[in-house]
Amino acid sequence: MRRVADLPWQGRVLEIRLHARRFRCSDPQCRQRIFTERLPETVQPKARRTARLGESQLAIGSRSAVNPARACRANSPCR
Ligand SMILES: [Zn+2]
Repeated sequence: MRRVADLPWQGRVLEIRLHARRFRCSDPQCRQRIFTERLPETVQPKARRTARLGESQLAIGSRSAVNPARACRANSPCR
């Protein structure tokens, strides 16, 4: 079972518990042998959060990021 953080709901932290199916390859020469079900629209392989939570955090991060040029101008005494 995988635990994946998702967007909060009603102010509560959400964690999704995923049961991904596993498939075995019938080819005895196969190097992979076992495949785990992928859910690319929901969560990337080995990710700890859903794609939509990642996108949301990225949007918040880019909005609150300091613009270095603007910060420099604002702090410059010789402006
Ligand atoms: Zn195979």
